[in-house]
Amino acid sequence: MLRLDGKVVLVTGAGNGLGKEYALAFAERGAKVVVNDLGGSSSGEGQSSRPADEVVQEIKSSGGEAVANYDSVEAGGKIIDFVIKTYGRIDILVHNAGILRDKSIAKMKDEDWDLVHGVHLRSVFLITRVAWAYMVKQKFGRIVTISSSAGIYGNFGQANYSAAKMGVVGLMQTLAVEGKKYNITCNSVAPIAGSRLTRSVMPDEMVDGLKAKYVAPLILWLSHPECKDSGCLFECGAGWIGKLRWERSAGYVVRKRGLPMTLEDVKENWDKICDFSDSHHPTNIHDANAKYYATLEVLDNND
Ligand code: NAD
Repeated sequence: MLRLDGKVVLVTGAGNGLGKEYALAFAERGAKVVVNDLGGSSSGEGQSSRPADEVVQEIKSSGGEAVANYDSVEAGGKIIDFVIKTYGRIDILVHNAGILRDKSIAKMKDEDWDLVHGVHLRSVFLITRVAWAYMVKQKFGRIVTISSSAGIYGNFGQANYSAAKMGVVGLMQTLAVEGKKYNITCNSVAPIAGSRLTRSVMPDEMVDGLKAKYVAPLILWLSHPECKDSGCLFECGAGWIGKLRWERSAGYVVRKRGLPMTLEDVKENWDKICDFSDSHHPTNIHDANAKYYATLEVLDNND
């Protein structure tokens, strides 16, 4: 049985839904859990200590160890200060807190954009920045950030949310590179589960069937010392787990030696540019940039 004894984990937004299941699962495997939750509405209004307190109570009554924290994730490093003061270390971060302010683009107010980005993206930067120094020092860290299929594929009325949810994927990709030599892994998970966030868009059978506890085991695996995968993006729900990767067409060099590159060159070769029959799966920026260098080797850059 895989255990997490002695590890300290911060799960943000752990008072309800998916975050609650992650917190319960971590405690069951022996981790000390900081249950962060602001306790507001699903659109980010108000606050309450009740959701976090109830989860802590549930963990304690099953013999686990947990403490509540009621700060908004926007408080950033202050939450890590609390974790360190309470348990003396931080091993695992699960960035899960979330709200929705769905509106189609023309109706979206600045505050709908800013609040959603503050909670889903900026907080991940602020909290991670402070936790990072501890993780580097102990040469161990596991960071899992919750993304969304709305970001990966797009979803009507979720411009603010989609942008933030893909923003965290980019953030994790870079931190995976920066964390490599310190045994800090950084991954993203786009889950699906019935919760108060999805109740308004899913029929009742789906809300009941897509249980949050079907996502928790993946979050725990990505947080475990034995899991070394980093810079990955997964989708998970209903008991199914899949991994995503980039696919790039072989592409086509439309520029010709000694001639200016034109709009017509692009139009004429559009089918070749978009043809995925001989595609490639770049896994890092060097791999991706190799195409440009190869092109410059066969063409000069004087045109
Ligand atoms: P939920 O509303 O049940 O839980 C979110 C929790 O985050 C709530 O307890 C809320 O109080 C807390 N929270 C909100 N703002 C906070 C803040 N500023 N500081 C601290 N806590 C805050 O929602 P959920 O469905 O469990 O969603 C959890 C995460 O999963 C979110 O990031 C969400 O975007 C993401 N997600 C969920 C689904 C899904 O199908 N449920 C799909 C894709 C992504």
